[in-house]
Amino acid sequence: MKVLVLGGTTEAAVLAAALDDRPEVQVVTSLAGRVARPSLPAGEVRIGGFGGADGLAHELRTAAVDVLVDATHPFAAAMRRNAEVAARLAEVPLVVLRRPGWTEQPGDRWHRVADEAAAAALLPALGRRALLALGRGRLEAFAGLDDVWFLLRAVDPPNVGVEGPPGGPAGSHDHLPRHYEVVLGRGPFALEDERALLREHAIDVVVSRDSGGPTSEKLVAARELGLPVVMVDRPPAALSPTVSTVDEALAALDGLDRP
Ligand code: NAP
Repeated sequence: MKVLVLGGTTEAAVLAAALDDRPEVQVVTSLAGRVARPSLPAGEVRIGGFGGADGLAHELRTAAVDVLVDATHPFAAAMRRNAEVAARLAEVPLVVLRRPGWTEQPGDRWHRVADEAAAAALLPALGRRALLALGRGRLEAFAGLDDVWFLLRAVDPPNVGVEGPPGGPAGSHDHLPRHYEVVLGRGPFALEDERALLREHAIDVVVSRDSGGPTSEKLVAARELGLPVVMVDRPPAALSPTVSTVDEALAALDGLDRP
């Protein structure tokens, strides 16, 4: 069975490792190519876009893929739509693996908003020094907030030149706010480091997307320090049946194996 995993997440890598252990399965993970040095999952890896839903459907047919697994990040909305359309076009079964979102705990001061634009509109009312860990290419909504200082955390430095980001369109660059500092890092982060980061930079508000998955120590540190969090909601879920853990995805694949 040949499985194409649309990846870029921890769960996708764990799934690829589990599938790679099965002699009867050939697993190929697809990465968008957004980060300069991606951590590579087990099995085969391909990097770069397919050229929309049609391109992915073409790939599913020509590479004789038996099952498509969309294990991309909950905020990768374009890829999610493409996966659903392509699976239909190529008549390949689709398994969607999407980890559950986070839920507010006692002591949290979350403000849920629909998207980054709403987060930017609310932010100045909540603080003046914001931790923003949304990743490159997602900062545009905050670019006009001249009264807020931002600590931007990302895996790769923001692109301020004329070269496009790896995997991104040539000539593109990140739109940055006026006052900011960049801190580079790839999670998971330890609680004591998150606490220290918030204190050191006198952060008074945190912006987070509801990415879900393992506990976010950034959110725990914000709770401990009594900081407000602007929590950006996920884009709409997939229409296709969705599982929320790697074990459930494996069970769904087993179910397809024995119709
Ligand atoms: P997106 O906006 O939904 O996708 C934009 C385009 O990037 C897609 O149309 C597709 O190009 C290409 N693409 C996305 N994921 C791909 C994959 N796994 N393999 C090949 N091409 C892919 O996606 P995004 O939010 O930029 O996320 C890009 C990747 O980063 C995803 O793999 C995702 O799992 C990972 N990631 C995203 C986030 C996040 O916050 N969004 C966080 C962590 C990791 P074509 O149309 O040309 O095929």
